[in-house]
Amino acid sequence: MDDKEIEKYVEDLYKELDGKISKEELRKIFNIWLSYNYSPEKVKEKILQKYKPGRILKIGEIKEEMKNINTVGKILTIKLTEKDGRRTYSGIIGDETGTIPFTTSREMPFKKGDVVRITNGYSGYFKDKLRLYIQQNSGVEKLDNYKIERVQTVPSKYTIDKIEGKSRNIETKMRILYAEERETNGKKRVSGIAGDNTGTIPFTAWNKKLEEGKSYIVKGAYAREFKGKIYLTIDENTEILELNEDVPVNEKIITLQEAIKSGIATGWFEGIFLEVSDDSGLIARCPVCRKILKGTECPEHGKVTPINDVIGKATFDDGTASGKVIFLRNEMESILQKNFEEILKMVVSTPGIPVIKEELEKRILLKPYRILGKLSVKDQNFFNITIFEIKPIGNKELSELKERLMGMV
Ligand SMILES: [Zn+2]
Repeated sequence: MDDKEIEKYVEDLYKELDGKISKEELRKIFNIWLSYNYSPEKVKEKILQKYKPGRILKIGEIKEEMKNINTVGKILTIKLTEKDGRRTYSGIIGDETGTIPFTTSREMPFKKGDVVRITNGYSGYFKDKLRLYIQQNSGVEKLDNYKIERVQTVPSKYTIDKIEGKSRNIETKMRILYAEERETNGKKRVSGIAGDNTGTIPFTAWNKKLEEGKSYIVKGAYAREFKGKIYLTIDENTEILELNEDVPVNEKIITLQEAIKSGIATGWFEGIFLEVSDDSGLIARCPVCRKILKGTECPEHGKVTPINDVIGKATFDDGTASGKVIFLRNEMESILQKNFEEILKMVVSTPGIPVIKEELEKRILLKPYRILGKLSVKDQNFFNITIFEIKPIGNKELSELKERLMGMV
């Protein structure tokens, strides 16, 4: 800990104690406590407890092993359990700085939403959780005119593989592997795939800026489950911060068979392209919903001026299963090594020839690739794979792939 950091604490303490103790004195006391190997946060508390007893702590300020805790919080949950004639109240209280579980054998005639002042409590860890204990001689009083509007709940940390459909208030570090921005009813929506070194997850973010390739820490997201797959939702209340360093992403290859069996929506697969479909080429989309149109009529939006787009379809096989792969514009541009304008030009200059299909064949047919894709399984034997990333694979992986493919024959 350097002098600059210490100075920040000294400054805080000086203000907190209304200048009653000089900065010089505070600096001295601070350094003495530090020399006993206490953390600076703990030292700050010890000094405050000593020189400002009886002060009201914010819930977020309650740390381990504190005594004489005075605090005000809103009851978020409360329940009474009776065992062998002993009545115990437990629940969670919080304020705008955090929440803490409480336990007491004292009568607590309160209900959810009540704001209470607690005096002379103490804190400690039980089952890995910091708790507030209210004693028989603690004071507990309901405050009728004290409002706590917003309670800050502390998010729980997750790695991507641990996120379940019912996970709430998620904190996770992730890298955006694929992102696509849309606008729905005037709200900006980014959806895509995020990953860390434990796995990948599809996400949707509302009115947030998340860029492909960048890494973020996300606080307060939640998950939902749809058809057995887990999705991460980032809404306006979710806090996101861009990280300076890349979150490492696991590119562990799974087989299509494993993915289908375990219901994994997205993953890295290695295989070869067996066939390019005839319907690879230019398409027209509804400008509103992006549905692929036959003419200028959208089933949902009526007569529209369609926008041009390009799509590629091919059969992908990894030796365990095969599926129909769909290349969207970005991937088509990168495989054909042409931007969309150049692709359009190419089509116009070769009338009557399925030039996009032929170009695609030239580049991918029977060639080994590693893809990051999302499966949408229609049934066990037929599924689509939307590709987000595609790259040729190296020799080592190639021999493993060959083995798998040979095994299939
Ligand atoms: Zn439409």
